Amino acid sequence: MNNQKTLYQGIINKYKRYLPVTGKTPIISLNEGNTPLIPATYLSKLLGKEYRVYLKYEGLNPTGSFKDRGMTMAISKACEEKSKAVMCASTGNTSASAAAYASRAGIKCIVLIPKGNIALGKLSQALIHGATVLAVNGNFDDALALAKEITKDYPITLVNSLNPYRIEGQKTASFEICDALQMAPDYQVMPVGNAGNITAYWKGYKEYKKAFKIRTLPKMLGFQAEGAAPIVRGYPIKKPETIATAIRIGNPASWKQAEKARDESKGLIDMVSDKEILDAYKLLAAKEGVYVEPASAASIAGLLKLAKRGYFDKPKSHEPCLSGRQARTKNIVCILTGHGLKDPDRAIKSIKEPKTIKINKKDVLKELGY
Ligand SMILES: *Cc1c(COP(=O)(O)O)cnc(C)c1O
Repeated sequence: MNNQKTLYQGIINKYKRYLPVTGKTPIISLNEGNTPLIPATYLSKLLGKEYRVYLKYEGLNPTGSFKDRGMTMAISKACEEKSKAVMCASTGNTSASAAAYASRAGIKCIVLIPKGNIALGKLSQALIHGATVLAVNGNFDDALALAKEITKDYPITLVNSLNPYRIEGQKTASFEICDALQMAPDYQVMPVGNAGNITAYWKGYKEYKKAFKIRTLPKMLGFQAEGAAPIVRGYPIKKPETIATAIRIGNPASWKQAEKARDESKGLIDMVSDKEILDAYKLLAAKEGVYVEPASAASIAGLLKLAKRGYFDKPKSHEPCLSGRQARTKNIVCILTGHGLKDPDRAIKSIKEPKTIKINKKDVLKELGY
């Protein structure tokens, strides 16, 4: 049984018929994808019996975020095109992923990060994989503008989500969700930063429908952080601010495509405060046993905000009246984009430090109330 055919070999191998690859494409993979869709017991109960909430735990990808899905494609295609170096601007996770896949491919990786605003776990990943990391005096948007300029003039491949292969790889997450549910979800909730991921998911769902794998499409519900919500406010934010560094973006590269996903799906893009993000971050860890980084908690903060507002109670006028018959339970999938261990500082700031006691049984038991 244990042969190459039965082993899972990453998203390109699994979904190649939906991806721009040929037999000649060298597949650079770390067996990314195939992440669990976890039923959220606590959140489902909170929403009531008409809804079932699932968590797509993308933090379980090889470098700890969904960026690996896009990076396996971007690096494979860069190798096919004989590129010897790749570059990205990054709030952290793109650089961690690019560095890992580039090292696997044996090519050079250059990373531009905004100085002082990336989680230490992510920076350590880029460095240990041997990337050249340069911190620039500016924010993510400035770093991306610089990376675009340099890669236009020099033989270096840009691997930000402007690279169309990134979007292609990332769309496979929607395939996995549909394969697991045996249908499309009714709603998908996710954080929105540079907006490549919402673009990718929506592309994936539409392609799966065209291929007759699903019959319906989900409503796309995106969430930005209040201090970095250009799409919600309708104008670029010069100095984006949020504790959720992965979505600390003031001028999203895929702005128009995100609006298209929102409008075509009859969904919405709204914002949540840092406090709502942190509350959701703690709730998810305490009640569902799932540890994510703050940006990912924006999904849950958004879900809770919509639930409180009654978004999920309204009778949906476009739905046929099911006289007498119980309507089907609706599925809500929340995308958890990155692992909590990327940014352990945040957790340590949110909890009490452990108490030091004498090393004896009596003191431990007393402390525990026995
Ligand atoms: C990149 C990233 C996002 C934002 O995704 P976009 O495609 O930029 O909208 C959200 N969460 C995490 C953990 C990320 O790494």
